[in-house]
Amino acid sequence: MEDIITSLKRKQEKPFCAYLYDLSKLRHYVNQLLTQLPGGCQLFYAVKANSDAALLRTLAPIVCGFEVASLGEIKKVREVDAKIPILFGGPGKTREAIEGAIDYDVALLHVESMHELQLISHVACEKKVSVSVLLRVNLRHAVPNAQLKMAGVPTQFGIDEANIPQAIALAKNLPNIKLHGFHFHAMSNNIDSKAHVEFINHCFELAKTWEEEWDLDLSYLNVGGGIGVNYLDTENQFNWNKFTNKLKNVLKKHNKANWKTVFECGRYITASCGYYAAEVLDIKQNHGHYFCVLRGGSHHLRLPAAWKQNHPFTIVPIEQWAYPFLRPELTNSAVTVAGELCTPNDVLARDIVVPRLRAGDILLFSYAGAYGWSISHHDFLSHPHPARIYVETDFIYCAEESVEKNLDRFSAAIKR
Ligand SMILES: *Cc1c(COP(=O)(O)O)cnc(C)c1O
Repeated sequence: MEDIITSLKRKQEKPFCAYLYDLSKLRHYVNQLLTQLPGGCQLFYAVKANSDAALLRTLAPIVCGFEVASLGEIKKVREVDAKIPILFGGPGKTREAIEGAIDYDVALLHVESMHELQLISHVACEKKVSVSVLLRVNLRHAVPNAQLKMAGVPTQFGIDEANIPQAIALAKNLPNIKLHGFHFHAMSNNIDSKAHVEFINHCFELAKTWEEEWDLDLSYLNVGGGIGVNYLDTENQFNWNKFTNKLKNVLKKHNKANWKTVFECGRYITASCGYYAAEVLDIKQNHGHYFCVLRGGSHHLRLPAAWKQNHPFTIVPIEQWAYPFLRPELTNSAVTVAGELCTPNDVLARDIVVPRLRAGDILLFSYAGAYGWSISHHDFLSHPHPARIYVETDFIYCAEESVEKNLDRFSAAIKR
């Protein structure tokens, strides 16, 4: 990635600011994940982590389908693939979204409340179709200690575990509703593979109890996403190998050959294929602390500010220097990486010791492919958006709608 940035930078004068997506890496990585996933498991991609069409297009032939949380995401998926299975979750589904889900042939709706169950049934009756659903469970216990929790603690998500029997009874009585199983998405950014397997085991135990007690014929156990990325210690990631080996034992123990175990991962799928590159505009010392100011910031990559953590980066040294005066520089010092916004919250990393940093160098943030651009407040201060550059096995291309005119010169495919 560093060599690509250096060669792109050589061709432009404007300060560099871009999201780069390595599509060949994404393809290879997801295929790798799939080879280790036990039989009977299905991997879906949770579109909200990054709904960029090029990523969806790369993933569509590999993953089992897409998980979406809005009618907008349903449409984005259907623009890329007319047939691929879609799972539709998320709280606050409107009547319009439910109608859209039916019209766009969504495979399963994840029901978030008793009211929503009745609304889905109502719409299904009007349209004279039957709708397949999973009930989303808000667990009372046994949720791993991840960065964010959607269950195991009081939240707006799903149906309280204590009320699931009522919801099952309602689903069995409602016309045009087919109950196929349960949905347990409960956390975000869990990097403990052992805790994740224990969580899945707990989901199996509950679903089996409900199936027996209510004489159900289930076909799906959706264990959600929530597998994480270690942003603070990048050498120490979620151990997929250990996880899938332990998972095999859990599946064997429960012996539910007619159930599909569904994963709907977002972060774990696209985080590592995405990079955010931003040029250093200035370096200064205030109150004895070094700051560098980027052409970019939290309006492009909000994650580190949202979670108040440092985002990992490397420095791409750039030898060009356009001006006849001294280039700001620091050596062997701690520096805080700030963006171009007029708020002290616009910080991507704090007090990171670097060997050398100069104005004009480019910082390359890794693990920026999930919850980066898609969760950021792009137009605060009206700076230009970053370019979007896609790296394929043997060529590079730039998004046509890129607002950085300078980078449009790269839009003709560049040979790697
Ligand atoms: C956000 C979300 C996901 C994906 O979560 P990751 O932590 O990115 O894996 C999956 N399912 C639901 C219901 C979600 O809301």
